Amino acid sequence: MNIVLFGPPGAGKGTQARILTERRGWPQLSTGEMLRAAVQNATPLGRQVEAILAKGELVTDAIVIGIVAERIDRPDCKNGAVFDGFPRTIAQAEALDKMLAERGKKIDLVLVLKVDDAVLIKRAEQRVRDTLARGETPRSDDTPETLQHRLSVYYKNTAPLLEFYSRQGKVATLDGMAPIEAVTASIARTIDKERGWFARLLGR
Ligand code: ADP
Repeated sequence: MNIVLFGPPGAGKGTQARILTERRGWPQLSTGEMLRAAVQNATPLGRQVEAILAKGELVTDAIVIGIVAERIDRPDCKNGAVFDGFPRTIAQAEALDKMLAERGKKIDLVLVLKVDDAVLIKRAEQRVRDTLARGETPRSDDTPETLQHRLSVYYKNTAPLLEFYSRQGKVATLDGMAPIEAVTASIARTIDKERGWFARLLGR
């Protein structure tokens, strides 16, 4: 299955994507992690996007579409993938639909993790404290000002995608403020319901 995990920064997409990969085998495709790895490794792409990431702005559609296009052709995506942090704009969603269609695939489900802003801000603060406690350096975009900016970028550019996917009838909205295991359980129920329907349709 191809699943999009959708929600504001700090909604828990990465956490749930990792659990899905572990339990269902679909790889996690996190554009944020791919871009941060490029910065870390000081590749030409990394040098190009470093300042944009630190400011909490969006990297150009062409860049992220390019890295996803390359990634979905790897054999581990054969049975599906969990998209985390992508698509973030309508143009990216259209490009994703097109590249999947060209491969005889589609997005099956868009799981929206709903979390209030106040909770997101608390989580980001906690993430910084935890990172510092481990003796590591926090993400350059985890400052209070940049987080505010990432949230406004989310509401302006990314939230409109919900309408795009609702029209396709693919959206399931879940309570992202429930404990991690409860969110995992509601994701599992939603996926199994969708798969059941899919399996019945195929007569299996
Ligand atoms: P979060 O969801 O916590 O904001 P991510 O790890 O998904 O963090 O993304 C971090 C940063 O990487 C974003 O603020 C943006 O600069 C860049 N980025 C990640 N995915 C995309 C994307 N699909 N389109 C444009 N920029 C992206």
